[in-house]
Amino acid sequence: MKKSNYAMWGLPENVTFCNKCVISNQRPNSTVEMKNKNMKKDTISFNKEGICSACEYAETKIETNWKEREELLFELLEPFRSKDGGYDVLVPSSGGKDSAFQAHILKYKYKMNPLAITWAPNMFTRAGWMNFNNLSRIGGIDSFLYTPNGKLHSYLTKLAFKNLGHPFQPFIHGQKIVGPKLAEKFGISLIMYGENQAEYGNPLENNADPFMEPEFFSIDDPRDMVLGGESVSSIIEKTDFIFRDFEPYIPPTPSTLLEKGIKVTYLGYFEKWDPQECYYYAVDNTGFMPSYERSIGTYSRYTEIDDKIVPFHFYMTYIKFGIGRATYDAAQEVRNGKITRDEAAYLVKKFDGEFPERYIKEFCKYIDISIKEFHEIVNSFRSPHLWVENSGKWRLRHTVALDGFDDE
Ligand SMILES: [Zn+2]
Repeated sequence: MKKSNYAMWGLPENVTFCNKCVISNQRPNSTVEMKNKNMKKDTISFNKEGICSACEYAETKIETNWKEREELLFELLEPFRSKDGGYDVLVPSSGGKDSAFQAHILKYKYKMNPLAITWAPNMFTRAGWMNFNNLSRIGGIDSFLYTPNGKLHSYLTKLAFKNLGHPFQPFIHGQKIVGPKLAEKFGISLIMYGENQAEYGNPLENNADPFMEPEFFSIDDPRDMVLGGESVSSIIEKTDFIFRDFEPYIPPTPSTLLEKGIKVTYLGYFEKWDPQECYYYAVDNTGFMPSYERSIGTYSRYTEIDDKIVPFHFYMTYIKFGIGRATYDAAQEVRNGKITRDEAAYLVKKFDGEFPERYIKEFCKYIDISIKEFHEIVNSFRSPHLWVENSGKWRLRHTVALDGFDDE
C-alpha cells in the first residue's frame, strides 16, 4: 500500500461518487467511531451500477403506496390515543422544520396529543430560538426544552472535537436518548422520530419495520458509556465532574422500555418525506422562518439552522470524509427530484467545505481552545487518501466535479 493512499478509520481507499447523486462511498453509516485509525468502517453501499443505497431508497419511495401507509398509521396510533387528555405521543424535536411538520400533523391530522421535546442546542442561533418558540406560539404545540449542565456539555463537546473530530456527538447522543428518557418520566408510551435513516444511505434492511428495537438505546453500565470518545468513569477520574452530572445522558434500559410498553417508531415510514415540502408546511403552519443568511458550507437557508455548532459539524465531515454540507443537501435534492446531478456538482464545488468564519471565535471560546489548536485538531483528521498538501494549501484528491488533485 502506498503511504499516500492510506485510508484512516478503514474508509474505502478508492474514492468513487454515486452515478445518480453526488454522495461518495466515504459516507459512514455512523460518524462516532473515529478513535481507532485502523478499524474497519461501515460506509454507505453502492450497487453494481454505482448507485448509492440512499438513491435506491428514493426509488422505493416512488413505488410505496402512501395512502395505505397513512391508513396504517391511523390504525397504529389507535391503541395509544389518550382517553383522558394526557399526552399520547412524544416527538423528539430539533426545533427544525421536520419536527415542526411532524408534531403538527400528529396533532391536527392524526388528532393525537403530542408533546414535543427538544434537547437544547449547544448554542442557539437567533433563528433557532425564534422557531423553537413559534412551534408553540404559532403551531399550537406543547413543547419542553431539556437543557443539560452547560459546563459538562461544552466539556464533552471539546472531547468529542479533539478525540473524534465530531463536536456534534454529545448533542446527537442527547437528541437520541431524550425521547425514551422523558417518555418514561412523562408516562408516554409512543415515541415518534422523523425521517427514515435510509434517506441518508443507512442499510435498507434496517428500515423495513416501522418499529425500532429498544436495544438501539442499550448500555450495560452507565459508567462505561462513551461520550466524546471517553468513558464516563475516565472523565470523572480526571475532572471535577461527578457521576450524577451525567444523569441527562443516561438512557433508560431496554427492559424498562419493554416493561412500560414504550414503542419507538418514525413518521418517515408512514408519510412521504420531502424536506422541501416539510419546510413549506412548517412555514404555513408553525411560523417557521428560514435563517437570515445562507448557511455556512451550503446554499440553503432552512436546514439545521438552530445551533451555531452545526457548521463545525459539517466542516469536520468535509475534513474526515471529503463530504461537506452542500454535498449532503445537494444529494438529497437530486434524490427528491429538485435539481439535476450537474447542478448538484456545481453547488458542491461552490460551497462545500466553506470555513465557518462567522462563528469560529465563539466556538473556540465555547470549548475553551485557541484558534491555533482548532486548526491543529482539524488537520489531525485529514486522511492521506483524501487530502494532499500542495504549495501550503490543502486540496482534496478527488471531487465530484473531477477537479481534485489526483483527478487532473
Ligand atoms: Zn446516490
